[in-house]
Amino acid sequence: AMTSGRGQSSLYAAETHQASSDRFKLELELARALDNGELRVFYQPIIELSTRDVSGFEALIRWHHPTRGLIPPMDFIPIAEESGLIVPIGQWVLREAAAQAMRWLEMEEHGRGLTMAVNLSIVQLRDPGLLGNVLEVLTKTGLDPHSLHLEITESMVIHDFETALDTLHALHALGVQLSVDDFGTGYAALGYLRTMPVQTLKIDKSFIDPLVGHDPRSLSIVEAIVSLARALDLDVIAEGVESVEQMVELQRIGTHLCQGYLFSRPLPAEEIPSWLREFRL
Ligand code: C2E
Ligand code: CA
Ligand code: CA
Ligand code: CA
Repeated sequence: AMTSGRGQSSLYAAETHQASSDRFKLELELARALDNGELRVFYQPIIELSTRDVSGFEALIRWHHPTRGLIPPMDFIPIAEESGLIVPIGQWVLREAAAQAMRWLEMEEHGRGLTMAVNLSIVQLRDPGLLGNVLEVLTKTGLDPHSLHLEITESMVIHDFETALDTLHALHALGVQLSVDDFGTGYAALGYLRTMPVQTLKIDKSFIDPLVGHDPRSLSIVEAIVSLARALDLDVIAEGVESVEQMVELQRIGTHLCQGYLFSRPLPAEEIPSWLREFRL
């Protein structure tokens, strides 16, 4: 038993070593990815059901690795966070997305009021330079702060309540809009909604999925979120809408803003104009 135990543990150590050196390699490659032009921002439209218009976009990062191919954000955002690379990468995403929003705003057909949502990492929220970075991007691009939506998750809010609160109030004072991403999945008490200057709740896909087949409990949860939002004068966006059945249900409940593959996958900026021309709801 002793020998096999030792054998197993050294095998485990070898595997761990392999994993950590892979990770280290990926971290080095990620550090160069930005300069090498391997990172891209894709945009997913957010649809206003009642007017059948595009209300805005969410910016989502993509990494086209030269040999490994497309690496999903879930596989490299954690590495970017642990290494601190998320700060320059996040700043780059913000600048790209704001500049892109300005280009679309200047194209008359898509008109006024278009919003651009950008995901914030907890590491960025803790970064004392965040406010200055946001301000710099707004100044350099000329984007109206009200058009910029920063998405934070409930867990970010719970873990660092005091710091988060100060930073969020400062961002809000600039006119930037704040959204709670993955709402309902963070095991958070709702008390933070009293003090946090948030304007939008994004209902997590896990509550939207079971609306197919009219799952009554999920329906009740979505209805409760919508009525909570209404009482607090917040907007609601349903995430991960994939079917007409879900869309109809959401419209009936009163969720007018929807995002999901039903309307469009995240697309590179250059594909958005043709998507817009073809989009009919
Ligand atoms: P998220 O912010 O919750 O983004 C929504 C995710 O759901 C995106 O995955 C999007 O492509 C996907 N999605 C949208 N509609 C549908 C649908 O109808 N069905 C399905 N199955 N999926 C849908 P993506 O792009 O892989 O991003 C995953 C996560 O990575 C994001 O989740 C966000 O947490 C993080 N992320 C992405 N870009 C950034 C970024 O620039 N900065 C930071 N900090 N995090 C990012
Ligand atoms: Ca998001
Ligand atoms: Ca989300
Ligand atoms: Ca998520």
